[in-house]
Amino acid sequence: MYDIMIIGAGPAGMSAAIYGLRAGRSVVMFEEKSYGGQIVNTPEIENYPGIAKVSGFKFATNLFNQVKDLGAEVVYEKAEKIEKENNVWKVKTGKNEYDGKTVILATGLKRRTLGLEREEAMIGAGVSYCATCDGMFFRNRTVVVVGGGNTALEDAIFLSNYCAKVYLVHRRDSFRGEQKLSKILQEKENVELVLDSVPVEIQGEPMVTGLKVKNVKTNEERVLEVQGIFVAVGQIPENENFKEAVELDDHGYVVATEACTTETDGLFTAGDCRTKEVRQLTTAAADGAVAALAASKYIEEHEV
Ligand code: NAP
Repeated sequence: MYDIMIIGAGPAGMSAAIYGLRAGRSVVMFEEKSYGGQIVNTPEIENYPGIAKVSGFKFATNLFNQVKDLGAEVVYEKAEKIEKENNVWKVKTGKNEYDGKTVILATGLKRRTLGLEREEAMIGAGVSYCATCDGMFFRNRTVVVVGGGNTALEDAIFLSNYCAKVYLVHRRDSFRGEQKLSKILQEKENVELVLDSVPVEIQGEPMVTGLKVKNVKTNEERVLEVQGIFVAVGQIPENENFKEAVELDDHGYVVATEACTTETDGLFTAGDCRTKEVRQLTTAAADGAVAALAASKYIEEHEV
């Protein structure tokens, strides 16, 4: 019987593990693939207090080692269901069943796709969702980044250092991402902004040779001749499996208070997967601490 069962080993889940362990609780983390969550795709983190610059992968690896050293157990299985039976929480993975006193949902977000025909089939043949991971394959080639948030802007800057040319396609004429990043991009000679435009067709077989885009104001279509398409259009929550245990809002986020509590007794939540205003690395880590201490207090008060 674990004290705290954490679903998701991203920054929120791993921060929760640190605070749970240091509060003297036994902790297990469930992770379907590998630790780190979305942050591993960020080339440089420059806004985490106390760390001037670090790659997302390095940050996640340091955090993971810290958690392991403190004694967390890590189970690489997908949590498919959580339910409470006779006052005991159960995490069911399809392979095994685990018992615990409390659960922290820290499932993060999964990448959003463009929804284009052949998008999935062309992954690895020119379509990518991770500039840091795949950028090097496109050295001296021409690529397009789609999106207007911080990820898209950072990806375009990163790729412009290796690629002959980078198009940045965004559906509006202003960016959601930080001004500082868009200013850097606008000063790059090998970057072309394609604004008010949406992708409509991936071209090329067996490898990508182009992306057809449409201007949403003029309806004009244009083919960008590219070998790589980097999709950076945000993320969506993945909490469907837990909707019977906890309330989700209309967009699928876990309905939570700022104290990381939910309406469900003994069930807490942390990070990007919950309802909140600011989804950042710093707030994910803060949530982890708040949720783990709330879970620890719950155990103490309920003597479960
Ligand atoms: P995001 O901020 O949600 O931006 C997604 C972008 O994709 C938006 O510009 C959106 O357009 C566009 N988009 C969404 N659906 C689309 C579609 N179907 N077709 C075309 N475009 C579409 O996502 P993100 O950039 O991945 O960032 C996620 C969070 O992480 C944000 O809070 C961000 O600040 C944070 N982040 C921070 C850092 C950092 O601080 N270093 C780095 C990366 C990410 P609209 O603008 O028109 O909605």
